[in-house]
Amino acid sequence: MVWLLRRCESCMQYTLKTDLCPHCGGRVHIAHPAKYSPNDKYAMHRIAMREDRVKT
Ligand SMILES: [Zn+2]
Repeated sequence: MVWLLRRCESCMQYTLKTDLCPHCGGRVHIAHPAKYSPNDKYAMHRIAMREDRVKT
């Protein structure tokens, strides 16, 4: 259930809340988004490169 953990951007506390940090009220995001599927990293990289190419 590690992938359900969220982490606060402000105080870096882990939480199971999906919207706001219960400690400081800051924004939270998934702690380990691509850890179990490393291919996502390359997919995002490809998309980023493609968008970069479109821009230039
Ligand atoms: Zn916090």
